[in-house]
Amino acid sequence: MSNTPSERPITDLTELLALAYQIEADAVQRYIDLAEQMEVHNNQDLLKVFRDLARAEGIHAEEIRKMAGDTDLAAVAKRLGRWQKGGSPEEVDLGAAHYLMTPWHALQLALIGEKRALEFFTSVVDTTKDPKIKEMAGEFVEEEAEHVNLVYRLLRKYPKPSDNWSEDDDSPAAQG
Ligand code: ZN
Repeated sequence: MSNTPSERPITDLTELLALAYQIEADAVQRYIDLAEQMEVHNNQDLLKVFRDLARAEGIHAEEIRKMAGDTDLAAVAKRLGRWQKGGSPEEVDLGAAHYLMTPWHALQLALIGEKRALEFFTSVVDTTKDPKIKEMAGEFVEEEAEHVNLVYRLLRKYPKPSDNWSEDDDSPAAQG
């Protein structure tokens, strides 16, 4: 069975909301995890950044949940399972997170997640016919773009460690 999430355009409203919810819920969990790691490093700066981002993504998740009304989005997302078979960016990233966790690595993981969220909501704006969803996704696109920029700014402050990590500056996640 192939696992190619982007081949089929998302047209079903519940499915769309479920995927959006999953992205945001995963992001919250990722930032909580990253914040904990930064606490271990006693990095108050990034600890605060990650906690703020967890809060921001949590607000998104809640907005999405409200739009879905009584539908259990987490259950729908689970049933869809399209990102459950090794395809979930967040899960894959977090699997590698714990032993790589310098501030630079933490920010790389944050960046990957933010870019994927941005891509997802951009695709929603481009494809959805529902004006409410389009408006929500449009707002999320703006916020996720801000998050991407924030992470890039922080990466200037926390450059790559000089240890012999991956040589590839552009795609640290492409390794392994
Ligand atoms: Zn974000």
